[in-house]
Amino acid sequence: MTSPNVVIVGAGIGGLTAARALQMRGIRVVLAEQATQLGEIGAGLTLTPNLTRILYHLGLEDELANILLVPEVQHIRHWQSGDILVGKPRGRVAIETYGFPYGHVHRADLHAMLTKAVLDHDPDCILLGKTATHVMTSGTNAIVTFEDGSTLTGDVIVGADGVRSAVRAALFETGLARFTGHVAWRALVPTADLPDHIAKAIPGLFIGPGKLFMRYPVRQGTAWNYAAFARQTGWKNESWSSRSEIGDPLALFAGWHEVVHETLKASPEDGVFKWALYARDPLSTWVKGRVTLLGDAAHAMVPFLGQGAAMSVEDGLILARCLTEISDVDAALARYQALRKPRCDETQIEASSIADRLQAEEAGNYAKGPVRDEETLGYYRYDAVGVQV
Ligand code: FAD
Repeated sequence: MTSPNVVIVGAGIGGLTAARALQMRGIRVVLAEQATQLGEIGAGLTLTPNLTRILYHLGLEDELANILLVPEVQHIRHWQSGDILVGKPRGRVAIETYGFPYGHVHRADLHAMLTKAVLDHDPDCILLGKTATHVMTSGTNAIVTFEDGSTLTGDVIVGADGVRSAVRAALFETGLARFTGHVAWRALVPTADLPDHIAKAIPGLFIGPGKLFMRYPVRQGTAWNYAAFARQTGWKNESWSSRSEIGDPLALFAGWHEVVHETLKASPEDGVFKWALYARDPLSTWVKGRVTLLGDAAHAMVPFLGQGAAMSVEDGLILARCLTEISDVDAALARYQALRKPRCDETQIEASSIADRLQAEEAGNYAKGPVRDEETLGYYRYDAVGVQV
């Protein structure tokens, strides 16, 4: 069996995972990334056991331990009274239940950890300043063209180029992205800037009518990441880097629990970002000839289920496993799609519907009856390492 030559467009979380998993299986891979340098961008990410299982498999258990903050427990609380509606034991309980940790990282730390793992294996593997503009597939190979006029040819080209994927736009039908009516503000608040009792409050969510506030610590507890979601009209910019004033969320969350407004109030000047949430329908296919998609390029979703990064990491490993465990490349791509697309389609749909449950008129009703969330839906048990490919 000869190894396929794989070109991955996009060195984000999913692309790097796929590259690392392919390298471990003896395949040389090239990652083409539009950024001219790999740097620190983004804020907090939740890593659930279905994701951390894969990082352990990729040999990154020790590196992960240095960047992962594991909460003992999380609470879902009433927006105004602060009453605990649901308590979620994490920490040791997650390890005992799922075998792998649940925790939080700064996205930049996860990105840096994966980048290092990939470059340690092959220092020439990542090409920077390569913005893909077009992709073609013909027979047994595919060609990607970049803005600078250069091209790369692969037996397989993987579009891991995120929510506004150029690879997807070139070859796949893309349903219109719909503004969901949700806008989110996020920031990293230095723990030292919070009143002591707020810095010690249990992490988790505050839920209320049409709004939601999430907070958890990262970086050895030196900072708290928050995201404040509210339904809004007018502003619709889908970007990770639009800056915002803190006045808007402070006004929108007036009357919410003290933990919420004290956390918002401590936001660093120039450190508040705002992004509009868009929903996309599942694609009809993820494979065109020798081109495929993974991560947000294939299934961008709203963040209410906390599974966006996990789905891209699962995609990355399963794609690498299919390309190395199935000798026929076309059959490997077909199997990758068969294993991943139904799970991700369902997740995209579920992530949209959970928003309404978390932002219902009567927050007190949230836990009356069985709670339907990513844990009770069984997401944490998925075993991308062991699943039959
Ligand atoms: P991404 O991690 O988005 O990676 C896509 C990669 O493709 C990026 O490196 C991008 O630069 C590159 N790319 C895009 N277009 C091209 C092109 N035409 N040619 C070549 N390369 C291209 N999620 C959170 O929950 N919290 C956050 O704070 C957060 N911050 C983020 C900040 C940034 C800058 C980005 C890009 C994403 C952020 N996300 C965040 C989203 C989260 O990382 C993804 O939803 C998830 O990890 C899925 O990963 P992915 O690999 O599919 O996509």
